[in-house]
Amino acid sequence: MFHKILIANRGEIACRVAATARRMAVKTVAVYSDADAHAKHVAACDEAVHIGGSAPRDSYLRWEKIIEAARVTGAQAIHPGYGFLSENEEFAQACADAGLVFIGPPASAIQAMGLKAESKQLMEKAGVPLVPGYHGAGQDPAMLKAEAGRIGYPVLIKASAGGGGKGMRAVDKAEDFDAALASCKREAKNSFGDDAVLIEKYVQRPRHIEIQVFGDTQGNCVYLFERDCSVQRRHQKVLEEAPAPGMTPAMRQQMGEAAVAAARAVNYVGAGTVEFIVEQKPDGTMSFFFMEMNTRLQVEHPVTEAITGLDLVEWQLRVASGEPLPLKQEDLRITGHAIEARICAENPDNNFLPATGTLAVYRKPACTAFERGAVRVDDGVREGDAISPFYDSMIAKLIVHGATRAEALARLDEALAHTHIVGLATNVQFLRHVVRSPSFAQANLDTALISREQAVLFHQEPLGLPLAAAAAVAQALLDERAAEGPDPFSRRDGWRSHGINIRRFAFEFHGEPAPAELKYLHDGGLILSVGGVSGPLQFGVTSDGLDVQYSGQRGAVTVYAQGETDHVFAAQGATQILNIDLLAHAGEAHAEVGRLTAPMPGKVVSFAVKAGDKVSKGQALAVMEAMKMEHTIAAPADGTVAELLYVPGDQVAEGAELLKLAAPQ
Ligand code: ADP
Ligand code: ADP
Ligand code: MG
Repeated sequence: MFHKILIANRGEIACRVAATARRMAVKTVAVYSDADAHAKHVAACDEAVHIGGSAPRDSYLRWEKIIEAARVTGAQAIHPGYGFLSENEEFAQACADAGLVFIGPPASAIQAMGLKAESKQLMEKAGVPLVPGYHGAGQDPAMLKAEAGRIGYPVLIKASAGGGGKGMRAVDKAEDFDAALASCKREAKNSFGDDAVLIEKYVQRPRHIEIQVFGDTQGNCVYLFERDCSVQRRHQKVLEEAPAPGMTPAMRQQMGEAAVAAARAVNYVGAGTVEFIVEQKPDGTMSFFFMEMNTRLQVEHPVTEAITGLDLVEWQLRVASGEPLPLKQEDLRITGHAIEARICAENPDNNFLPATGTLAVYRKPACTAFERGAVRVDDGVREGDAISPFYDSMIAKLIVHGATRAEALARLDEALAHTHIVGLATNVQFLRHVVRSPSFAQANLDTALISREQAVLFHQEPLGLPLAAAAAVAQALLDERAAEGPDPFSRRDGWRSHGINIRRFAFEFHGEPAPAELKYLHDGGLILSVGGVSGPLQFGVTSDGLDVQYSGQRGAVTVYAQGETDHVFAAQGATQILNIDLLAHAGEAHAEVGRLTAPMPGKVVSFAVKAGDKVSKGQALAVMEAMKMEHTIAAPADGTVAELLYVPGDQVAEGAELLKLAAPQ
């Protein structure tokens, strides 16, 4: 076994590899860019080497720098993770040339599987079933169009060099072919520097089912069963699970053996994934066709680990150091069911637009860190870290395991409910909607699941105004109690409680004003009125938040305030409510209209000025008392007091003008 390896990646996969290396007493070297100077993966490794600027081409793609870092630190091998240099045959070759072990397949296998068209020609020879299509070298547009006609519409035009769901165009009819071909070639040229395409029959109601394979240097090759990755958006995976629902032992064996044949055809060594597209026929039978082989560890490898009880990174390290595969095909077993959810910084309601920002709050479900457990979280970030625009938008992966799919599903929903992220948009709530959608719950899987279920997936409000407002009010009261301290007369905010028993909250929910009124009863009870609902509000403190009861609903909620936005997380889902601080905005409003108004209903306690006084910005003008608190009203700008409109002791309504302030003379 190696004594030291370098991890040529970042984020969760770098942390993932480091965790196994540590367990195996293998030392690790991290590499990092400017943006990642304080990243979790740097802390996760024993040593770290700075390799350049934040953009991938200035750091994580600079293989000479990375090889130099390995040489300087005495690392014997390089783990490329996924993405970046993991499928770059020149890099694999450069490692070999520098006397370093590339923890992955030989450069020749990467190259053979690198282009979709060429790899299909190879697979055809190896007897692996292919989607009917054209994957020859010819690229004449008229010929390609004729091929499309021969295959039969709908067809899929694919960039041969493509990946990550880019460079694909579905075409329904011949009239659309030319335009789709031109646009596919443009995208392929821009993204991959190679505009060669292939044409495939567009499989109807397709499922994406892939097989994990592993080869060693002794010529052994096994399959570690399948993963169903049919739930996709923009041809990118969202949820992955193993085993694939509805898979029969016979089909599993056929697909497994086809995948091993594919791997053997290129003398594969290490971890690899053979992706198949599966056609579901009306009679319920399924046929599978080779799509491509990914010559690296896959993002979704943890579901395979969960059902087999194996550590695939350990296998990678063992195979790369020359050991034989730890197990034979007949020793491998599937136990239970596992699902992975990719948590990404993105806005599902806005076409999955990626988001950037700081993880102001990042709370994870309770998990059994690395061992095969019910809930596992793989991530490369900590609370307070930034999701920068330079890299992938994936924040974390949530992996759950259960005895059955139903158990895993319930556990995933629970784990998602306990994933609290504030500071940027994420797909956590969207994932909960997917998990609860009829199609996913009933394992009615195919790549169109998200568009089919869109009515229940997008623009959903899981919580509703009453519970959101109740949670925000409860949290506000709790925060005030905490601020009061043991001495009720030393309240930081200077308010006092004397008789007034109505308090207003200026909420805004989904962009609409949602004023709320809270009444304090003599017996200590609370009555909340909001959004046409009125009733008792009860709440108590729990270990991780509040237990709120209001309007026939009861929920364990956690509220995080960020500025004036309260982020409310509950079992039902998460939402946001704007809790506008009337007092804080009082001055702003005055500045605009040149008058001073009461921020809430209450009593005028005193005026600190009289008509004719010159005042300067920030100077105390009046003291008001409302709802347990006293509030000093300050001058929003320099000026002269024109007139006092009330006398001390007067009750005033919210918004009442207290005094007139004239511009300075
Ligand atoms: P596929 O869907 O074919 O399996 P994957 O989704 O498994 O592809 O992962 C490949 C993608 O992961 C790359 O295209 C890249 O954008 C992204 N990626 C690469 N490195 C990282 C990383 N360190 N952290 C998060 N994402 C990464
Ligand atoms: P990439 O390299 O971008 O991962 P793939 O060839 O693996 O490209 O295809 C990505 C996704 O596109 C698949 O998971 C599947 O959802 C869809 N897809 C690919 N080929 C077909 C096909 N022939 N018919 C229907 N859908 C397809
Ligand atoms: Mg793919």
